[in-house]
Amino acid sequence: MKVLDRIENQLGKKVSEATNEEIYVGLLKLVNQMAECKSGNNAKKKLYYISAEFLIGKLLSNNLINLGIYDEVREELKKAGKDLCEIEEFENEPSLGNGGLGRLAACFLDSIATLGLNGDGVGLNYHFGLFKQVFKNNTQTTMPDAWISDNNWLNKTDITYNIKFKDKNVVSRMYDINVTGYNNQTNKLHLFDIEGIDEHIIEEGIGFDKNQIDKNLTLFLYPDDSDEAGRILRIYQQYFLVSSAAQLIIDECISKGSNLKDLNEYAVIQINDTHPTMVIPELIRLLCERGLEMDEAIEVVKKTCAYTNHTILAEALEKWPMEYLKKAVPQLIPIIEVLDNKIRRKYSNEKLYIIDCVERVHMAHIDIHYSFSVNGVASLHTDILQNEELNEFYKIYPDKFNNKTNGITFRRWLLKSNKQLTNYIEQLIGDEFKKDSFELKKLLEYMNDENALKKLLEIKAEKKAELKDYILKEQGIEVDENSIFDIQVKRLHEYKRQQLNMLFVIKKYLDIKNGDKPSTPITVIFGAKAAPAYVIAQDIIHAILCLQQIVNNDNDVNKYLKVVMIENYNVTRAEKLIPACDISEQISLASKEASGTGNMKFMLNGAITLGTEDGANVEIHQLVGDDNIYIFGDSSDVVVERYKNGDYIAREYYEKNNDIKKIVDFIVCENMLKVGNKERLERLKNELINKDWFMTFPDFDEYVQVREKAYKDYENRLLWSKKMLINIANAGYFSSDRTIEEYNREIWNV
Ligand SMILES: *Cc1c(COP(=O)(O)O)cnc(C)c1O
Repeated sequence: MKVLDRIENQLGKKVSEATNEEIYVGLLKLVNQMAECKSGNNAKKKLYYISAEFLIGKLLSNNLINLGIYDEVREELKKAGKDLCEIEEFENEPSLGNGGLGRLAACFLDSIATLGLNGDGVGLNYHFGLFKQVFKNNTQTTMPDAWISDNNWLNKTDITYNIKFKDKNVVSRMYDINVTGYNNQTNKLHLFDIEGIDEHIIEEGIGFDKNQIDKNLTLFLYPDDSDEAGRILRIYQQYFLVSSAAQLIIDECISKGSNLKDLNEYAVIQINDTHPTMVIPELIRLLCERGLEMDEAIEVVKKTCAYTNHTILAEALEKWPMEYLKKAVPQLIPIIEVLDNKIRRKYSNEKLYIIDCVERVHMAHIDIHYSFSVNGVASLHTDILQNEELNEFYKIYPDKFNNKTNGITFRRWLLKSNKQLTNYIEQLIGDEFKKDSFELKKLLEYMNDENALKKLLEIKAEKKAELKDYILKEQGIEVDENSIFDIQVKRLHEYKRQQLNMLFVIKKYLDIKNGDKPSTPITVIFGAKAAPAYVIAQDIIHAILCLQQIVNNDNDVNKYLKVVMIENYNVTRAEKLIPACDISEQISLASKEASGTGNMKFMLNGAITLGTEDGANVEIHQLVGDDNIYIFGDSSDVVVERYKNGDYIAREYYEKNNDIKKIVDFIVCENMLKVGNKERLERLKNELINKDWFMTFPDFDEYVQVREKAYKDYENRLLWSKKMLINIANAGYFSSDRTIEEYNREIWNV
């Protein structure tokens, strides 16, 4: 049957007579029907990718692409006078993740299905996901972000489990979202939820009564990206997730014939960061309940679990006080003690213990000792884990450690978000690159082809014009589509150094005021949410918003420079911003960004990276060569040494470097105080000159120099386009299909 007929069957009327919302619902149902017709892979062994976050983004277009009917649907709708983009507006984005870690999990599910692997995701069904960011008085405020409307992608299942906490029992129910592979099978994302969620307990903003666990358990995603705030609710959420997952895994394995002693032949569990770590003691507990000896259970769980480390920021490595665990999940305590004792008997080095001398449980240590694989997420990150952060562990388990450089799904970050570029690439090299990302290399043949280079510039200009319209519509700011779009979008964290970018903008503003005007106007775009408890991060957002108001309203300057802080940066916005970018700011303090995946999305869309030698930037640099990336800043070795010696004194830079002094003082100048909050701006200035834990100043001069070099190079449009082409051509390595193929070959074997 033709797609149009199938949609109209769903609607019970002609498309031309239906509202956009009705068509959206019809398409949703059609997609689910088609997805469910594609049977999964029933191999004996199955991967369970457990993660507290899956930042999946909107699903309609992505599913249409993966099912191979996107173009047909769009054309048919167009004939009936309907616009698929407008229809997509009815879908809410499920923001079930904070940032990169959750988005990675979503890209991985896409690739697992696309490669035809037997593997499902397991997570939580947060009713409000991450908060919605609203700017008021140049400050971030937070609102609940409702995404579950009457028609959504969740399919309720009959599967329920009892979850026991110390003082209460709750029922967990499984909901499934279909994960369509690109021209391949459908897998599942299992999201667990409690039955009794009560949205009425939400107070102002995203406040709610933290104690009513049976009403709030899956209400919100924990909004702290990497700051451990030691909240008991978080432990409840984590245990709820892993106990549901463990029961599901045991049931599925038994139904396939496992006697549980051979669990590892039926299941492999990838633990995404430490949030699902309790799956290890919980599985051991459940296996013992079902008759295994403790040692037997420990051994088989160890052979089943693999752990991915996502950060070296010490404050982000979860350490739960024993006392908290005792209050929420006392049944795990004896097991965690057994696990710890085994280590204590074997090793005298206290750094290897699970329970430390102040009775805190180090979650990562459970993972490392009791799983068969430990991986970092980019080559530099894995090196730092092995040689610095986890060196004590690496010495005893050298074979467990391995690297899996992150990747992104090209279906969403190229095919969906940049149709124009996708079509042009196809015109040049055929469509094999959609299945085999390394085919993009063939673009290198066009490196000196003037027509191709011009066409790339035209496509970029088109995406910039689209973004200009979007920014005007959403935020009422008019930007110049012929300016350089210089973009930094990612969570706000001091280590990512939005403050460094901000200092450059202040410098540029002062330069222009002094008559030093750029040859091509510049639009600096930021987008970032800050954890509500992270005060300095909010201060940085505040300062950028104040700067936006001052710069954009200054008629001496605004022809040459504009600042835009995108409100509520999320996947939907990322899809509009990234294809329109000229310069991709990836300026984290070397050694601190584990990988980054934003950097890969930008590269794939022909933006040139301006970055430090950090995370996967190192690998981007190796792939494109010195001429096609802008690198600056101290190396990770220098930074690591500086932390070890504790000899960085920010104030010395402030006092000795006139430029830095002038720029930092601007943060609290009269004009800023007129539009801003004195307390916030002063706190930010003081933080920078008295602490600056993430070392903004040492890299500043070189950052300015290299950024100016990039602006100068931009003037030679054809040479710039050649850099774009070389970046796109080398992005194939960063397909999550490549990453997942490595995980499967070296870790999962499903
Ligand atoms: C890709 C992505 C991220 C991760 O960006 P990084 O620059 O790697 O930190 C965060 N948020 C969203 C919405 C994304 O799409």
